[in-house]
Amino acid sequence: MGKVNKEDIKEIIDKYDKSNITIATLGSHTALHILRGAKQEGFRTAVVCEKGKEVPYERFGVADEFIFVEEYKNIVDEEVQDKLRSMNAIVVPHGSFVAYAGLDNVEDKFNVPMFGNRDVLRWEAERDKERKMLLESGIRMPMKYENPEDIDKAVMVKFPGARGGQGYFICSSYDEFNEKIDEMKSRGWLTDEDVANAHIEEYVCGTNYCIHYFYSALKDEVEVLGMDSRYETNIDGIVRIPAQEQMEANLSPSYVVSGNHPVVIRESLLPQVFKNGDQLVEKAKELVAPGMNGPFCLQCLVNDDREIVVFEMSARIDGGTNTFMNGSAYSYIQFGEPMSMGRRISREIKNAIKEDKLDVITT
Ligand code: ADP
Repeated sequence: MGKVNKEDIKEIIDKYDKSNITIATLGSHTALHILRGAKQEGFRTAVVCEKGKEVPYERFGVADEFIFVEEYKNIVDEEVQDKLRSMNAIVVPHGSFVAYAGLDNVEDKFNVPMFGNRDVLRWEAERDKERKMLLESGIRMPMKYENPEDIDKAVMVKFPGARGGQGYFICSSYDEFNEKIDEMKSRGWLTDEDVANAHIEEYVCGTNYCIHYFYSALKDEVEVLGMDSRYETNIDGIVRIPAQEQMEANLSPSYVVSGNHPVVIRESLLPQVFKNGDQLVEKAKELVAPGMNGPFCLQCLVNDDREIVVFEMSARIDGGTNTFMNGSAYSYIQFGEPMSMGRRISREIKNAIKEDKLDVITT
């Protein structure tokens, strides 16, 4: 199937009534502050929802229009696309939108203008592409082990697919690696294919910061809008068990995000924070033009050498931005007013309309 044609999207945007733009998204993930932020900036809002999932958007009063679908994946259906275009909608993609709609569908058949660069989404979805972009940006990542035989210190073993760290494990030698793989296979948690595709990386013992950036293509500037750390089940439950009982409990860790804490980073680390964001934005322009365009997130661990080690990125609004729906310490410093990531997106759209540059920030 062909790709969504950039010229077609540009044509749709050209025909939109710029005085009556609707900001739309799927009812999940970060929709609350995407929609609330859009209203703060004076836009109409629409949410695409499965029946029964509309409750927060209704109760918090953030959506002007509800588009109901049987299943979330139906957001790519022609009739939903028609409705969205008839509302002059710009769709803000978030993690659940990409997961439910399917990346192929977003690339191949979602002919509705989206905020940001839709081509960059694949770069976060594929581990090799993500690693290439981060490393070529000069960003420090956990060292990767090509062979389990080479394991010489604590490593984290990850398996393909977004499984929230379910089944990821930590080991420190080749023997321990084999033991754990055998055990997981015997429990039916892993297939031979999973094992062949195991990704082994240095275990970074440090503290977690997920750093939320916004790249304004209009201003050619990278902003740091907020930071969170993850609250993950069951690992954050396991660490509350004293060591001896932990051994007896024989629980396997998982890293399913169940919530987020707002956090600020030691001020002396901020130059590294900005450097990483700036370098990634420059590299992304080269690898997948026009680049990051809008929100992105670097998921980091800070080790005791005060290095920021990045183990993952989101090339769109990340769920941790929910920690600053009313602004963060950093967005306050930058803007002096409550600025969520959702509102920042709509501010960019508003500025683009004023400057007649909507095509620069949509695809
Ligand atoms: P997923 O994308 O499946 O959720 P992640 O790569 O985000 O998996 O990893 C899940 C969690 O594991 C992270 O939130 C972090 O707490 C931890 N983690 C990931 N990579 C490392 C690493 N190299 N060293 C230490 N902890 C890590």
